[in-house]
Amino acid sequence: MLDNLNRVKSLNDHPVKDGMVVYWMGRDQRARDNWALLYAQGVAIERKQPLVVFFGMPAEFVDSGWRQYDFAIKSLQETENYLAQKNIPMVVVPGWPGQVAAEFVIKQKAGLVVVDFNPMHYVLAEQNKLAQQIDIAMHLVDAHNIVPTWVSSPKLEFAAYTFRPKIHKLLPQYLTDFPELKNHKFNIELNLPKNNWKQIIKTITADRLVDPVDWIVPGEKAAQAQLKKFVTEAYSNYSELRNDPNAEVQSNLSPYLHFGQIAPQRVALVVSQLPPSTQQEDFLEELIVRRELSDNFCYYNPNYDKFEGFPDWAKKTLNEHRSDAREYVYSYQQFEQGKTHDELWNAAQLQMVYQGKMHGYMRMYWAKKILEWTPDPETALNYAIKLNDKYELDGRDPNGYVGCAWSIGGVHDRAWFEREIFGKIRFMNYNGAKRKFDVQKYIDAVASLSGQTLF
Ligand code: FAD
Repeated sequence: MLDNLNRVKSLNDHPVKDGMVVYWMGRDQRARDNWALLYAQGVAIERKQPLVVFFGMPAEFVDSGWRQYDFAIKSLQETENYLAQKNIPMVVVPGWPGQVAAEFVIKQKAGLVVVDFNPMHYVLAEQNKLAQQIDIAMHLVDAHNIVPTWVSSPKLEFAAYTFRPKIHKLLPQYLTDFPELKNHKFNIELNLPKNNWKQIIKTITADRLVDPVDWIVPGEKAAQAQLKKFVTEAYSNYSELRNDPNAEVQSNLSPYLHFGQIAPQRVALVVSQLPPSTQQEDFLEELIVRRELSDNFCYYNPNYDKFEGFPDWAKKTLNEHRSDAREYVYSYQQFEQGKTHDELWNAAQLQMVYQGKMHGYMRMYWAKKILEWTPDPETALNYAIKLNDKYELDGRDPNGYVGCAWSIGGVHDRAWFEREIFGKIRFMNYNGAKRKFDVQKYIDAVASLSGQTLF
């Protein structure tokens, strides 16, 4: 079952009844190392009940393009096959997840619904709505964070330095290994619909122009292979070169982590077993502290994607510089097509458009320039989030909302020297980038990418 019951929260006061346990899979799209699935199976075994994984496939989701659907679907098919080996059916139904999940749970006369945790408020609202619609227990499990978000801190944290000691204190208790998923003996004579993937895919209306990418293979197995590759080939240079977009030393795990195709806890377990080093410290700081801080921000701040969600000092300084003259102002389309005067910015934008993943260092530069070249911070945040969500494989993620809010609105950052437009928000410029890495090499590399049919 679970190593720690603090990973679980009840979403209503109803009892667990006789009937199948349904794990309504959302954010954590994997069969291995999944606390929500392990918990669901534990209860099902204890009560000698069937266990079914349910997934609702929306026709469109936030600003996702077809690229993100393709990445998720191929992985879900792999997960479905792996679950079948454990005698656990996975039912995928097209439609709005909250609605089709409610229909399924009621029709099957389930005894318990288990859901995984996602701090996005629209997801929490859907889950709470279902919890109120049914007369059986519904349990929420944080299968994405090593320390559950509601345990690591009971409030909105100001910055990494306030959050870090809290999470480090709890890690020995929560950074434990996962048990194996068992073959489920109680799934007999279940009369469930078979997934018709062709039909499911036909219902998806996401933008097909945002086409799949071929440099990264989706799925749980590919995610494990990528982790291995990172640790053996890139990890030793992580601290030294991670801010150089020409060096391939980032882990490239964010698409897998976003879709839950690999557990952050598995990644942390593998890396923390390596000998102590600066790269271990730096990588675990990003993977654990920064990533879990993003969930903290979105969970406790309903304005995570708005100007109102910025800290007071940042709102004040941005308001004071609202009417500063902007030397360049671009439309959404000009940004989207990478048609600014700045070749480096255009390259970053096009790397995201063509590859579905912009280098981490360039993401900061990219968002800060959007602040500099739009009429106001609200427009800047809106454009940055929209582009990030549409093209990044790892978009629509707490890390994305926080990354944009950090760059444009000083979230989790501190005040810097005051200047035009930015006020006291940290500034970045072309010359700074030039001092850090070979800018021309990066621009040339992006220019050589193929498949440029979008615009
Ligand atoms: P690595 O350097 O190998 O890091 C490993 C993991 O640590 C990442 O996968 C991620 O889970 C976590 N991590 C790394 N950097 C950060 C960070 N700054 N904040 C929080 N967690 C971090 N990340 C996303 O996952 N999705 C997004 O949509 C996203 N959008 C961003 C937008 C902007 C404007 C900015 C400034 C940052 C954004 N980030 C986003 C954070 C970060 O840039 C990416 O997580 C990272 O570049 C992903 O590549 P990687 O997995 O190879 O990173």
